[in-house]
This record gives sequence, C-alpha cells and structure tokens, in this order.
Amino acid sequence: MDYEVVVIGAGPGGYVCAIRCAQLGLRTALVEKRQLGGTCLNWGCIPTKALYSATKLLERASTAKEMGIAFAPASIDLEKLAEWKEGVVSKLVGGIETLLDKNGVDVRVAESRLDGPGRVALSDGDALSAERIVLATGSSAIEIPGFSFDDPLVWSSDDALALTEIPDRLIVIGGGVIGLELATIYRRLGCAVTVLELLPEILSVVDLDRRTVATLARSLKLQGVDVRTDTAARSIAAGPDGSEVLTDAGAIPADRVLLAVGRRPNSAGLGLETVGVEPDRRGSIPVDGGLRTSADGVYAIGDVAPGPMLAHKASTEAVALAESFAGGKMRSIDYDLIPQAIFTDPEVASVGLSEARAKERGHDALVGRFPYAALGKALGMREPDGFFQVVADRANHRVLGVQIVGADASELISEAAVAIENGLSLEAIADTIHPHPTLPEGLKEAAESALGKAIHAINR
Ligand code: FAD
Ligand code: NAD
Repeated sequence: MDYEVVVIGAGPGGYVCAIRCAQLGLRTALVEKRQLGGTCLNWGCIPTKALYSATKLLERASTAKEMGIAFAPASIDLEKLAEWKEGVVSKLVGGIETLLDKNGVDVRVAESRLDGPGRVALSDGDALSAERIVLATGSSAIEIPGFSFDDPLVWSSDDALALTEIPDRLIVIGGGVIGLELATIYRRLGCAVTVLELLPEILSVVDLDRRTVATLARSLKLQGVDVRTDTAARSIAAGPDGSEVLTDAGAIPADRVLLAVGRRPNSAGLGLETVGVEPDRRGSIPVDGGLRTSADGVYAIGDVAPGPMLAHKASTEAVALAESFAGGKMRSIDYDLIPQAIFTDPEVASVGLSEARAKERGHDALVGRFPYAALGKALGMREPDGFFQVVADRANHRVLGVQIVGADASELISEAAVAIENGLSLEAIADTIHPHPTLPEGLKEAAESALGKAIHAINR
C-alpha cells in the first residue's frame, strides 16, 4: 500500500484529519482539486467573517455620533476591501500549506475518485492505494427551479464574497445562515436588501427558541433589511424597472439575486459505486458512530457526512477519526453539543438544547434569562440589544442549553459549551467569579436568574 491513509478534500475536515494522522505517525496523503482550506477558508467562514468585521466599522462609525463622536461619511473602496479579505484568506491558506508540509503529509492537487476497495484514482492519471480512505469532499450550493447560477443576475455565496459590486437592490433567497450573514454585510455596504424565506420563520434549520429568532428579526427590520417570510420565489423576469424576482406574493425589482437555499453534500462523481456505498436522499454519505461508511476502510466526515454543516463539526470528526486510526478509542461526539455562531447583527449563538427541544425530550425545563441592557459593559459598548438564556433540568440543575443573541455572542458561547460538555450545573456557572464589567457576566446572571437569585434583574 502507498499510504496508511488517503484523505480526499482539504477543507477543515480533510486537512485537519491529514495533519492529525501524520502527527500520529501514519503515512498520509491529502488530495485536493481546488484550494487547501476548502470552502471554509476560501469561500466560507473566513471571508464572511473578515467582511463582517470590516463592515461592522461602517455601522459603528455611522452611529458613533450618539456617543459624541462624529466621522465624515465613510467611503468604501471595494477593490481594496476585496484585496484585504483575500490577504486574510491567503495568509491562512499559506499557514495550512506549511503545517501539512512540516507534518510530512503528501499533498496532491487533483480531482480524485474511489476506484474500488483501497484505491483512489487521480485526474492527473496517477492512482494511490491506501489502507483507509477518508472522504471529506464538503458541499456545494443548491439551485432551485427558476434560478440558475449560470444566470449572471444570480449570485452564489462565492459570487457575493468576490465583492465585484454593491448592487442597489439585492434580493436574498433563503433566510438561513448564509442568506442572513450576507444580507447583514451587504446592508452595511449600503445596499437595499430583501430576504425571501419560504418558511414562516427565518433560521428555521437551527434549533433556536422563538424569542431568540424574534429578537434578530426585529433588529434586521430596524437595520432596514426587508425580511419576507412565507414567501416562495418562483423565477426571474424582465420588469418595467429592470429585472424582477417573481414570488407568490408579487414581483420585486432586483439588481442581483443571491441564492442561499442550502447546500448539498459533494458525493456525486466520487466513485462510491465502486465500493458499494450509496448516499442517502440528500446526498449525504451514511456513517456509523465510528464515521465508517458501509464499505470497509472508507470513512466520511464533515459536510459530506450527515450532521450540521459546520467547520468545527468537520474538524472535530477529523481529529476523532485520526486518533481512532492510530489505535486510540474513537471519541464519541455528542452532536447536540456542537455550538453554532451566526454572524448577523446582533450575533446569535447557541449550544445544547433550546427550551422547546428540552421539553420535547421530556425535561422539566428551568429557564433563566438576562438582558444585555442590564450589563454595564454592554451599555458602555452601546450594544444594549439581546439577551442570554440558560436552560437547565429542574431536577438536578444540570445545564442543557444556552442561547445568546447580542454583541459578541459568538465569543461568549464557548463558556457555555465547556459547562454543558462537562455536565456542569447552574450553580457552577453562577458561583464562578466573573470579572466586572464584562459581557460574560450576562451568562452568570442568567444562571442566577434561573436559580431565582439574579442581582441585576427582577427574579420571577
Ligand atoms: P469543505 O470545506 O467544503 O472542503 C471540501 C474540499 O474537498 C474542497 O476544497 C473541495 O475542493 C474538495 N473536493 C471535493 N471533491 C473533491 C474530489 N473529488 N477530489 C479532490 N478534492 C475534492 N461554518 C462554520 O462553522 N462557521 C462559519 O462561520 C461558516 N461560514 C460559512 C459561510 C459560507 C458563505 C459558507 C458557504 C459556509 C460556511 N460555513 C461555516 C460552513 C463551512 O464552510 C463548512 O461546514 C466546512 O467548510 C465543511 O468542511 P469540509 O472539510 O467538510 O468541506
Ligand atoms: P440553510 O439550510 O441554513 O438555510 C436555507 C434557507 O433557505 C432555509 O431557511 C430554507 O427554508 C430556505 N429556502 C429553501 N428553499 C427556499 C425557496 N425556494 N425560497 C425561499 N427560501 C427557501 O442553508 P444556507 O444558509 O445555504 O447554509 C448552508 C449551511 O452552511 C448551513 O447548514 C450552515 O450550517 C452553514 N453555514 C454556517 C455558518 C455559521 O456557522 N456562521 C455560516 C454560513 C453557513
């Protein structure tokens, strides 16, 4: 065998798996057809968050006069902004290249497919044999009838992140995570943004309580993002004022249409049939608790496998799998405990069970909440919107879930993740001394509120 492990796809699933395998002494190759870092680094997490932070400056500058500080109206050099974002991406991609090299991973740039048990065929004509093959090929944006990425009017998230123009009127189809993050960025850039969501609520694919979603929806409205739920987009047509998106509730003029209605696992064309593996209806490759597919020696991780399509889900699976290859016990992954951080304004973050899900699972849910408006730090930051919510089991006070909607929620959720992963109680959070004045005090006060002893809020 050429290798002990061949990994296909170099996103946060594949590159992390390859590095960990090599660290553990396994002879490892990594095959990537496009760019090291995959979707996350090149067209996903990193460029969106770079633009999120850059455009946050625009929002801060435009409202700083409330604090007695005024700026001249900001100007946006789109080319420079795109260049800066690309600089962030290429720094990280370069870092991964070095790590792979220093850890002794053989990197091959080619499209690859399975070619029977233990064999991987490369588009450059080469073939690799391996004891174990890890499929980490990620996912791609979905099209819907009436909208095609071949239409120059229709953007994928990749197109939106390329920052070629700021359209006057952007229609975002899909009120999910990608749609709302990009709506936030483009609204801050000055675009009139309309979001069309098929279902009655935005962010319906994430396990969030209604109050959390309603807080975000209210804030999007205040920012001028026109969110239309229960609306089906049908097609694009020419109208009196340029192009229009036709919906079941009328026509909406559009200069660009961002299609963000979900992503499909990249399992087609991978040669799965040569090893007898069949993807499910959604295109996911079914795996067991050891991330094994139905074929001996073939594994799947990240977006191409079932579960949430998140970078840290992919890399958690990657490390667990690599360690199991090296003789360790497969770490069991609790998929309920994969945190989610959504970069809207305000941010939304969650880990564990929502109040509704906790009740569905038969818990007698004890809930504590605490508003940002009662935190000195939040007021000093001029970020009073949002709240912390802690859900615990009434019987033993074990924390089951936390949701935070508000400034820096993405940073604040990790404390909750540590608490829940380690089975901590409300008392553990409430009795831990938190420095003052900081935002994490909100989590402590929410836990205290559940216990009926919050100091800076009325206990109910
Ligand atoms: P990918 O990162 O998609 O990598 C798969 C790689 O496999 C790709 O590089 C692809 O070229 C390669 N490949 C595919 N087929 C083959 C083949 N046959 N041969 C060789 N190579 C192949 N997640 C978060 O957790 N936080 C975020 O903030 C976040 N933001 C996002 C923003 C956007 C706009 C998008 C689109 C996604 C975002 N995600 C985010 C999701 C995240 O990017 C994915 O969950 C993550 O990249 C999945 O990692 P992966 O390794 O499974 O796949
Ligand atoms: P999504 O599944 O989160 O949302 C898609 C939305 O589109 C849903 O609300 C759905 O109801 C709606 N929709 C579907 N068909 C529609 C139609 N015809 N008309 C109007 N609306 C329609 O998918 P996404 O936003 O494309 O994101 C894909 C994945 O990427 C997500 O699973 C997410 O986990 C991941 N991601 C994560 C982050 C993050 O963690 N910050 C950021 C971006 C993407």
